[in-house]
Amino acid sequence: MRIANLKGRAVLVAGDQALDVEQASEGRFEADPQSVWKDWPAFSSWGASVDPAGHARSASFDRADLGAPVPRPSQVFGIGLNYADHAREAQLEVPEHPLVFTKFPSSLSGPAATVRLSSDRVDWEAELVVVIGSGGRDIAESNGWDAVAGLTVGQDLSDRTVQNWGKPAQFNLGKSFQGYAPTGPAVVTLDEVRAAADPDALSISCRIADDEDSELRTLQDGTTGDLIFTVPRLVAELSAIVELFPGDLVFTGTPAGVGMGRNPQVFLKPGQRLVTEIEAIGTVEQRFVL
Ligand code: ZN
Repeated sequence: MRIANLKGRAVLVAGDQALDVEQASEGRFEADPQSVWKDWPAFSSWGASVDPAGHARSASFDRADLGAPVPRPSQVFGIGLNYADHAREAQLEVPEHPLVFTKFPSSLSGPAATVRLSSDRVDWEAELVVVIGSGGRDIAESNGWDAVAGLTVGQDLSDRTVQNWGKPAQFNLGKSFQGYAPTGPAVVTLDEVRAAADPDALSISCRIADDEDSELRTLQDGTTGDLIFTVPRLVAELSAIVELFPGDLVFTGTPAGVGMGRNPQVFLKPGQRLVTEIEAIGTVEQRFVL
């Protein structure tokens, strides 16, 4: 199942077809995409019984109309330095416990958002984003995947100047400007990911073009198989301290290839187009303006 946000309404998506959740469920589930997470077990079993590809009420849609699939999560966790090659390029040590920050939920945007650059030092970070299905505390690592409803693609856009304000640095604000947390195109449930690929080893990449007409060139090309703290481990480490809620997001960290790790350093420019892709999930594509 692929759950998306089309013009502010929850939809199930298959290919270029979208099925409105409120209409198809005859009012059993609300139109608000956030309401999917109020009773995830009920929603997921209903959704599994519906085929948006062959449904009489399905209609084709425009990707530009997709919003953040989880628009107002209770909590958004970001994990820093979760790939060894990225920790090396950042010239920082691999942490003993996950390095956790937040992207405030007001920074969330959809898969086709145009993002205003806050400075000339804004960087890209392609990330697998975990969506929690059944929350709780003290979830064992061996049950970590069971707590996950699905996966989506994210960009942890980061203003490196603000991120490194002060000593010690504080990450949250520099990663929380408006639109700096693009997600989408849909939350893909774990069963659907597993039918296509190994959720513990998904290829993840990010590419850029200088304008609409230029070819994309590769910036990051990795696999989530290289995560230092795996998804089940993150669920265990986070839930040992904070309660996890259905619909919470975890940005799991980025592989090597960010702009600040280059020599000379490179950052995003207005007019550029950034495409972030994860195997079996899809792509998000951002355009940048001043
Ligand atoms: Zn990140």
